[in-house]
Formats: sequence, C-alpha cells, structure tokens
Amino acid sequence: MPKMRAVQVSRAKGPFEIVERDIPEPGSGSVRIKVQACGVCHSDSLTKEGMFPGLEYPRVPGHEVIGLVDAVGPGVAGLTVGERIGVGWNGGYCGYCEACRRGDFFACQTATRVTGITSDGGYADYMIAQSSAVARVPKELSEIDAAPLMCAGITTFNALRHSGAGPGEVVAILGLGGLGHLGVQYAAKMGFKTVAIARGQDKEALARKLGASHYIDNQTQDPAAELARMGGAKAILATVTSGDAMRSVLGGLAVNGTMLVIGAVPSLEVNPLFLLGGRRSVKGWYSGTSIDSQDTLRFSVLTGVRSMNEVLPLERASEAYERMMSGKARFRVVLTTGN
Ligand SMILES: [Zn+2]
Ligand SMILES: [Zn+2]
Repeated sequence: MPKMRAVQVSRAKGPFEIVERDIPEPGSGSVRIKVQACGVCHSDSLTKEGMFPGLEYPRVPGHEVIGLVDAVGPGVAGLTVGERIGVGWNGGYCGYCEACRRGDFFACQTATRVTGITSDGGYADYMIAQSSAVARVPKELSEIDAAPLMCAGITTFNALRHSGAGPGEVVAILGLGGLGHLGVQYAAKMGFKTVAIARGQDKEALARKLGASHYIDNQTQDPAAELARMGGAKAILATVTSGDAMRSVLGGLAVNGTMLVIGAVPSLEVNPLFLLGGRRSVKGWYSGTSIDSQDTLRFSVLTGVRSMNEVLPLERASEAYERMMSGKARFRVVLTTGN
C-alpha cells in the first residue's frame, strides 16, 4: 500500500502529529486530490481544540486546499485526472434536499460537510473531496496564491458582492488581518468607496496600498462618527474577533445599511431602535460553495487581488498554526507539500 504524510490531531487540544498513512481511495462521488498547498485558517482551531460538535479523531485539518485531481471515484462527472482544483470550507452537498433544491447548497440538510472537520483536510499529501466541493483553479494563480482565497478570499469576496452596496457607495472593512487585508482589496476592486478601520496609525499606509480611499484609526478616532460624517456606510464587513470593536462601528451604518459579520465573536450587542429606525441589519455570512470559490479565484485573476502569505513546508504545520493563532503572521500562512 503506498503511503503519504499527513498532519493529524488525535484528541481535542492535542498536538499536531506528522504520521504516515495509506493513500486513501476515492469513494462514489469523490475525487482524490494530490495536495500542493494548504492555507492555515483560524477555523482550523475548531479541529485542534475540539470545538466543533461531534468532531471525530484523529482528524487532519485544512480547508484552503489546492492540488491536482489524482483519481476519480465512481459517479463523478466533469473532472479529469491532472486538473488543478481547490477545496474550501464547504465539503460538498447532496443536491436533492429542500435547501439544495432552493439553491441554498451551503445549508444542505442531509449532512454537515466541512473540509478538515467532518472529513480529513489538506494538511497532507493527499485528501478525498466530494466532487460538489471542488472548484477549478485558473492557471494564472500559483498554488500558494490560490490557497488562502479558498477560505479567507471567498468569505470576504462573497460577503461583499452580496452586501447590497453599489459602485461608489461607502463600504467599511473592520480589521486589517488575514480576512481584512483581502476585504479591502476586493471592496476597492468592486468599485466601493472603501474605508479601512484598524488599530493604530501605522496601518494606514498598508490600508491605502491595498486600495482603501479612507482610513480610520479606531484607537484615536470614533469609527461610527467618522463613517456617519461620510454619510454612513452601506455595508460594514466585520472581520475582527471582538464584539466590542464591532459594536463601536455599528453606529456608522447608513439607512438601509448592513453589517456583515464574518468574525465569530462570542456575542454582539445591538441597539434594536437603531436597527429598526433606519431599517438597518446585522447579518451573518457563510463563506460559500465551490462555485463561489471559483468566482473568487476568477475575480482575483482579473483584478490582481492577492493574499500576502508566509510559506512553510507541511512538516512545520505546528509552527504555521502558532503564527496564525498568535496574530504574528503577515497575513496568511500557507503550507506546501512539494507535490
Ligand atoms: Zn477558514
Ligand atoms: Zn442538500
């Protein structure tokens, strides 16, 4: 039996272990991917820390996967060996449940399928993916460029394009980390009047380089007041992990404005009078499914949006994870397999 390297977690809060495993065979409706690169995401902590309900160990994390179709299982149409593909958070869907039949594939009711959580992910030489989870990767993107776009990219791109904001309207991106540095680029390239909000004056130059036309330092300025002075934001993309930071910006929403929450904060306090008085909303956003990933990659090629990455080999997954979790990484970390 041919073997491969995999980085697995064997128990909640356990360490990453580099192990040798049999190369898996794709079952019905699945493909085997020869992994080239896999991004490290904050949500990998759900696997590492055991915070996802029903998680089974050992588990290989990783849901920003780029690689080549290596083998095709029975019943798969439209994918051929050698094709370059990517897999993100969404691990596929059935296509026949009520949610799928309404086009809400992300909310598939037959099973929860999350790459690297309900099945093994991309911290390995090979992985199995459902064919419905697979996005095609344009040749213009390297595997390192493409990997972080499979979660950080799609999440910000897809939220922004569904934000309800139109060209020239004010859109604020709260936070300038792994998600925010992509959010600012996408917002600017979509033609929004893009406002970056982050802590400290030292981030202004980067924000402007990424395409922000305005910068608000929320350590010294009141972000809600600053946005209100600009007429209010049609959309605020909240990428941070602090509920207080989100609340401090919420007051900057324009009439009919929407705050899109993509940072998983424990709780968020909102003033209902402010919402209903201006028909404003606070909304969560699910990253998207494989076709949304494909749109994200295509738009990134078209406009030149790229993630800024630190690159480490698969064997250094533990160090990569630490850099991501500590916030030291500038701005995403990508593992490469050498395949
Ligand atoms: Zn992610
Ligand atoms: Zn379904």
